[in-house]
Amino acid sequence: MNELRDLYQQVILDHYKQPRNFYRLKPATHHAKGHNPLCGDEVDIWLDIQDNIIRDIGFTGQGCAISTASASLMTEALRGKTLSEAHQIFDEVRAMVTTDTQLTSPAGKLMVLAGVRQFPARVKCAMLAWHTLNAALNHQTKPVSTEQT
Ligand code: ZN
Repeated sequence: MNELRDLYQQVILDHYKQPRNFYRLKPATHHAKGHNPLCGDEVDIWLDIQDNIIRDIGFTGQGCAISTASASLMTEALRGKTLSEAHQIFDEVRAMVTTDTQLTSPAGKLMVLAGVRQFPARVKCAMLAWHTLNAALNHQTKPVSTEQT
């Protein structure tokens, strides 16, 4: 079990040091800004959605290792997915980091985020990018704050 935890930490550190898809989309069809005041994490999610498919997704901002890695893993998992698949993955990740639910979708790499379950303050770091994604998909213009939910 310790080996598994080490592996998860390696993946998170890797995505923190070398975030994937760390760029702003121009133009973006969808965008939202998110903020986690408890930790100081800030993230912008940028999407290019055509015909209900996420053609491109990127993120910018700065935050702790968990929030950055979560955003990086999220962009990797969602590129090329349909909107309904994206909503399903969101629901699975939220269930995974807040309950004992196991991920069953092909986005199994997101499993590494399950480790935050034991640290309630870290759940907000891990979910920030995901809540911001939801806001972007809903064309919500008001910035997302983890302290409003
Ligand atoms: Zn954080």
